[in-house]
Amino acid sequence: AYLDAITARDSKVGAYLREEGERALGQAASVDERRSKGESLGKLAGLPVAVKDVLCDKSTLTTCASKMLENFRPPYDSTVVERLKAADAVLIGRTNMDEFAMGGSTENSAFQITRNPWDLERSPGGSSGGAAACVAAGMAPLSIGTDTGGSIRQPAGLCGVVGLKPTYGRVSRYGLVAFASSLDQVGPLSRTTQDAALLLETIAGHDPRDSTSLDQPVPEYSKTISEPLKGLRIGLVKEHFAEGLDREVESAVREAFRIYESLGATVKEVSLPHSKHAVATYYVIAPCEASSNLARYDGVHYGHRTDEVAMLAELAAERKSLEAAKDEIGLTRLDSTLVRMYRRSRSEGFGPEVKRRIMLGTYALSAGYYDAYYLKALKVRRLIRQDFDNAFGEVDLIAGPVTAQTAFKLGEMVEDPLSMYLVDLYTVSANLAGIPGISVPCGFDKAGLPIGLQLLAPPLEEERLLRGAHMFE
Ligand code: GLN
Repeated sequence: AYLDAITARDSKVGAYLREEGERALGQAASVDERRSKGESLGKLAGLPVAVKDVLCDKSTLTTCASKMLENFRPPYDSTVVERLKAADAVLIGRTNMDEFAMGGSTENSAFQITRNPWDLERSPGGSSGGAAACVAAGMAPLSIGTDTGGSIRQPAGLCGVVGLKPTYGRVSRYGLVAFASSLDQVGPLSRTTQDAALLLETIAGHDPRDSTSLDQPVPEYSKTISEPLKGLRIGLVKEHFAEGLDREVESAVREAFRIYESLGATVKEVSLPHSKHAVATYYVIAPCEASSNLARYDGVHYGHRTDEVAMLAELAAERKSLEAAKDEIGLTRLDSTLVRMYRRSRSEGFGPEVKRRIMLGTYALSAGYYDAYYLKALKVRRLIRQDFDNAFGEVDLIAGPVTAQTAFKLGEMVEDPLSMYLVDLYTVSANLAGIPGISVPCGFDKAGLPIGLQLLAPPLEEERLLRGAHMFE
């Protein structure tokens, strides 16, 4: 049925980079067969799960929506994919994303754009836009996304689905193609919080192959999720309701606070005084880490390599013209063939946003700027984390908007990187602090576009987060 939905709808939405129907039917058939033999089956037996094209799966490509990895077939499974397979999930396809997860609209994909199923002229958000759109359009019941600065929660909010970013270290990053390693987390997208709980408990847990993975037991979130939280104290962040927040988004979020009160919760105002620096801090740290992580794409170890015949022809032509001009310009150095190969491979393989991040990152990390930018950003990051520690001394959960606006028009933001970066205002703090966050649908604006409510919890309190979100749902 889901494959039929993909056939019927995905030519319009563009959520999938590759639908893997044949493999999915094979997996489904084998689950059926084992079920008929009375064998015990995994937690997700027979359930289709779509996976963002950034998690290694040895039975298909992992492109990160980049020309650089257009033909990359990983030799191993990421831990998340391994756990999905072990739980007998049916891996139905690989979803579109911003290239290397850099972006918030899915328009930075090198291959296609994804449209918001609620209004095809609008963006589904990003970078996990495909993962959110496929669930919203009924083309998968569950999907896996990644969130470095909001890429699960923001598209979930803009597409009217549930999206959860776990505590940093809760889900293994082994086999996740790295963007910013101290911020990256893998998490579930789904129609309901109950489904998110089931998917999270399947993929979470310690993994010795990821040195930042937390060695902590994983509660069975799906068992406890319907227990309401007694005496719940919800924090309303005063800095959240400032200039720039759309009126309709604000009123839906304020209505959510009233609903919590009607359920017996108390609402208390808290302050996150350093949150105003979160976007600036994030856009120093994330590009710094990205510039280092992406140094591995050199045309040798992985991915795209420039055409060497064309390269040698270029070199010969340059040498000739230099020869001719030698007397005028004196000694000139040509790039070695090695440097030239790196430069051409990377110029051809990466898109404009990825290049922008690499340049920002290498600049901020270079001698003379390191202390002023990178080190400073690390210090502010610590203050942002401390703000949350203080706030969670007074409240159990924090609630607020996911984005300041509902889904924006395709093409509207992508030409203006700075305004695109500002979309991340409410989401990046959770990544900087390492805390878990969820987006749950909380209404629609007058144009019929979904609005998301973000809930945040202290580290490792996913159970509280899910129970709190479920109460509201
Ligand atoms: N929009 C943010 C960025 O472009 C977040 C991306 C993400 O979470 N992967 O970096």
